[in-house]
Amino acid sequence: MSGSEAFAEIIDGDVYKYYADGEWKKSASGKFVPIINPTTRNTQFKVQACSQEEVNKIIETAKLAQKSWAKTPLWKRAELLHKAAAILKQHKAPIAECLVKEIAKPAKDAVTEVVRSGDLVSYCAEEGVRILGEGKFLVSDSFPGNERTKYCLTSKIPLGVVLAIPPFNYPVNLAVSKIAPALIAGNSIVLKPPTQGAVAALHMVHCFHLAGFPKGLVSCVTGKGSDIGDFLTMHPGVNCISFTGGDTGIAISRKAGMIPLQMELGGKDACIILEDADLDLAAVSIIKGGFSYSGQRCTAVKVVLVMASVADTLVEKVNSKVAKLTVGPPEDDCDITPVVTESSANFIEGLVMDAKQKGATFCQEYKREGNLIWPLLLDNVRPDMRIAWEEPFGPVLPLIRINSVDEGIHHCNASNFGLQGCVFTKDINKAILISDAMETGTVQINSAPARGPDHFPFQGLKDSGIGSQGITNSINMMTKTKSTVINLPSPSYTMG
Ligand code: NAP
Repeated sequence: MSGSEAFAEIIDGDVYKYYADGEWKKSASGKFVPIINPTTRNTQFKVQACSQEEVNKIIETAKLAQKSWAKTPLWKRAELLHKAAAILKQHKAPIAECLVKEIAKPAKDAVTEVVRSGDLVSYCAEEGVRILGEGKFLVSDSFPGNERTKYCLTSKIPLGVVLAIPPFNYPVNLAVSKIAPALIAGNSIVLKPPTQGAVAALHMVHCFHLAGFPKGLVSCVTGKGSDIGDFLTMHPGVNCISFTGGDTGIAISRKAGMIPLQMELGGKDACIILEDADLDLAAVSIIKGGFSYSGQRCTAVKVVLVMASVADTLVEKVNSKVAKLTVGPPEDDCDITPVVTESSANFIEGLVMDAKQKGATFCQEYKREGNLIWPLLLDNVRPDMRIAWEEPFGPVLPLIRINSVDEGIHHCNASNFGLQGCVFTKDINKAILISDAMETGTVQINSAPARGPDHFPFQGLKDSGIGSQGITNSINMMTKTKSTVINLPSPSYTMG
């Protein structure tokens, strides 16, 4: 894997290098950051702790590289992205292996993440060629008081240096979802990967290196977010930040300067289940939505709001499926694997204990070994319990029994989050009314919340984010409109 020949140059001894100016480098800081394997809880990898001087140098070269990249024909930019996508897919196995060791992602899901990332890069190249090849032509006489003396031509221009900060749960996919739109739009990119997931991200960056992007256009700076995060996000050389993660994003948005921000933050996705719902379908979706990757997904089902009259039947169906979930190491492709860090496991346990103390019904016995937490459905959760509102990011799912649809909508809208939500009913008219009433960026009808397909718009309201993602929206977000106005000496009317 990491010893595989294609990746030999990205490691020195047992410490992975960072990537700057088209080369793999050791940090002059002499310091490294350990990456703890969530399953063994031992140090699995080490990455460089980059210094502020190294960040300065990276941003300086990114600025220079961007100038010539912006002059590179669009079709050539697309060609290089297609090449990177193919190399990424070719090396899916070693990259997936890093995901298994660093973030305990089940083996099959880890491969899926890399393949999906390659597809995203290719789609982005194709979409970029289409949408960046188009501009607008406006004439002045549509606005009152004007003759047709001005022709306005608009086009989309790059922003400059884009800083990309993805979270641990999809360190490859959520990195390329920022890198590919930035590059096709003519920007340069500085990636700060999450600590857990950094080595998978470095492997992914090497695929862009192998594709032959110009030196300095793509860089990857490693180190703990708490150490170098502020320096990066407040750096005057950064022209756009695309961040995915938790509350850190709120702090970043307060500190960042006058630059475009794309923030994908937390969620508390509600699943509202009506009396007429297909309860088998709902149960399958709750299991997939709530427990895939042990609940560590931004769009995981994070609270079930079920009409009391069908709650017993639903709980029974969900419980019988929870019993079938496999629990164990990611290498065995288990459904439930250890959560990413010990502090995450402790946080989840805190929510569970609070619910226990306040009288929630435990449908399974609470069990934990190290970072591994067995899947748990908590019935009869009430609004005074922390788990009714907070994001566990673990295999622990609260269920609230409701007596009216309005009660469900009210709970959903009282959350500070507004990422996604879902509603299960056979009545499409009711579904539409509920969807319109839910204050979330997306509502899924008769399916669990989901981020993909990656070209769909994806956005959070309230504390769940700023801006919208999805391939097309990300490309647009990483550009600015430029107008050129042709002023004519006298009005000119076509066929006039
Ligand atoms: P996190 O703790 O907020 O970290 C996200 C990223 O920010 C990591 O790369 C982290 O680096 C970095 N970081 C930490 N402190 C920083 C600072 N001061 N300045 C700049 N960057 C800093 O989130 P996480 O635990 O990785 O991910 C889980 C969260 O992400 C959940 O809340 C989840 O809902 C959210 N999420 C949202 C979406 C979405 O699309 N809305 C998708 C996935 C996940 P280090 O790892 O080095 O600390």
